[in-house]
Amino acid sequence: MFKYPKVCSLHLTTRCDHHCHHCVCDRTKRIDADLDQTVQLIRDFRKLGGIYLDLTGGNPVLVDWLYDVLKVARDENFYTSITVSGPRSLKQKKALLLPNMVRVSLEGDENYTDQNRNVKAYLPAVEFLAWAQKERTNETQIIWTAIPGVRGNINDDQFGSVLKLARKYEAMVNINPLFGGDFTQDEMLNLRKYAKQAGCYFSLGKSRFIMHGGNNPLQPTCLAASTVTTISADGYLVLPCFHNAISKIPLTSGLQAALDSEIRKKFLKIQGRLSFCDGCSIWCYIVPSWYSQHVFDRIVVWQDALSRLQSIRDFTLKSFGKLHLKHPYPDFKL
Ligand code: SF4
Ligand code: SF4
Repeated sequence: MFKYPKVCSLHLTTRCDHHCHHCVCDRTKRIDADLDQTVQLIRDFRKLGGIYLDLTGGNPVLVDWLYDVLKVARDENFYTSITVSGPRSLKQKKALLLPNMVRVSLEGDENYTDQNRNVKAYLPAVEFLAWAQKERTNETQIIWTAIPGVRGNINDDQFGSVLKLARKYEAMVNINPLFGGDFTQDEMLNLRKYAKQAGCYFSLGKSRFIMHGGNNPLQPTCLAASTVTTISADGYLVLPCFHNAISKIPLTSGLQAALDSEIRKKFLKIQGRLSFCDGCSIWCYIVPSWYSQHVFDRIVVWQDALSRLQSIRDFTLKSFGKLHLKHPYPDFKL
């Protein structure tokens, strides 16, 4: 077990120009992070042994100084990822050359995506993918949030359309089961079917975890406070996790002081054990927890690791033009 987390979920803004039906962010306050504090925080996190920085929000492409943050992160040798959507992504091209991973979020075809987001998000995403195909050397994924239920998008029509787009622009597809989603066995089996497509990543570990009921507070998987440093846009260390922030520690005395605080120590004992933790599958915390010292289900970890290795293999083959993307299985409506 490491003393400090290796992963940082850095919220650059609470603003977002989309209105996704599945959104869990509070976008009412419209707060941006402070650039100087963010730069200092990235440097401090590196000194404490951090290796992975996920830039998030809100919609992180809305902040004008995104390039400055990503440049500092690259200079500090972080592995960086960011999820983008909408027309503003195209105005951040200089910045978006830098991350190791850019995820372009889409829920389905143009009609479905725009309706789900209540804005015209699809066509800018397509334009961005076309640019990324030409200009980005690091990985670009389409992150397809699989939404369960009768109003969800788990059907061949939506997945097929995303797969077709990914193949056109040589992007990988990351199949992301909506956390907290109430998936039926059939829906989960459908996701497994999609995962067999070349160039598609779906963690079979996630699938097993969901099918086994998610986090169990009596025997918790989640180590949110130990494994992830979550920083809110208004400059606080958030505990135990972004989605259920019951405590916020100011960073005025520095990141290390916040991580060493008595409040965080308290959360190290109760993380994953709170009432709202029952059945949780918030991947930003659950997946890093799998790879910490506490291995609750070795099969989940092995399945997740295997899925990741397959994804890396597909991306490598694609980079050398060896991945045969042009032959979809016939049961998809492409
Ligand atoms: S893009 Fe993200 S932050 Fe914005 S509304 Fe959708 S889910 Fe929420
Ligand atoms: S189990 Fe879920 S709700 Fe509970 S601390 Fe972890 S991520 Fe947060």
